[in-house]
Amino acid sequence: PHAPPLVIEGLAKTYKNGFTAVRDVSFTVERGMVLGLLGPNGAGKTTVLRMLMGLIRPTAGRITAFGAPVGPGAPVLADIGAFVEGPGFLPHLSGTENLRLYWAATGRPADEAHLEEALEIAGLGDSIHRRVGTYSQGMRQRLAIAQAMLGLPDLLVLDEPTNGLDPPQIHAMRDVLRRYAAGGRTVLVSSHLLAEVEQTCTHVVVMHHGVVVATGSVEDVIAGGGAASFTVDAPERAAEV
Ligand code: ATP
Repeated sequence: PHAPPLVIEGLAKTYKNGFTAVRDVSFTVERGMVLGLLGPNGAGKTTVLRMLMGLIRPTAGRITAFGAPVGPGAPVLADIGAFVEGPGFLPHLSGTENLRLYWAATGRPADEAHLEEALEIAGLGDSIHRRVGTYSQGMRQRLAIAQAMLGLPDLLVLDEPTNGLDPPQIHAMRDVLRRYAAGGRTVLVSSHLLAEVEQTCTHVVVMHHGVVVATGSVEDVIAGGGAASFTVDAPERAAEV
């Protein structure tokens, strides 16, 4: 049997200023899930994702991806693709040119099949040949997601990829992420919008003040009121979608 894409056990982070942003966080992501890490601003989502990407060191706990330990000093896993906010694209180059440049910069050999599939899933259509300077914000986000998907990583990690998108664009994201996971791959995506996680994800981990307050399938968590503490904090944003 294969090890799960992600196992997080007793994870904690206290920053240098003494603030504990994450405490005793544990959850497992199984293959094929689109798991939403849901919580209001400041809940600790980004801190968890940065530890997962090996950018910062946990104060306590363990992260294992596909059975191998993750963290600073551990080899960066080629099978985790990450997206953290919109990266800088070169506006005078086309979408495809930007992706090819990015891929060349990673030093990995060109793989046309991967490029084609990432572009197909991200749903950029013919605009992929237009200059990025002409893109809407939604298209830039899709291009950023296509970039994270380039190597078709078995675990795709996205930090608030729908930030700044409007409801139809958020809805389109559901198809992008579900299609990605349908190929036996796994997605972990953070969000502060309950409605968005409800639309996009199969499973959810709800965080509040650095701890996990609910986990399960989206239906179970919402039916069980597990996301209630969260909606109190962000009613105006949750109502937008
Ligand atoms: P957001 O949606 O705003 O990114 P989040 O759930 O991702 O929210 P984090 O960015 O993980 O939350 O932040 C959690 C808490 O940790 C916040 O109160 C934040 O101010 C604090 N924090 C983040 N980075 C640091 C740091 N380098 N030093 C001290 N405190 C920090």
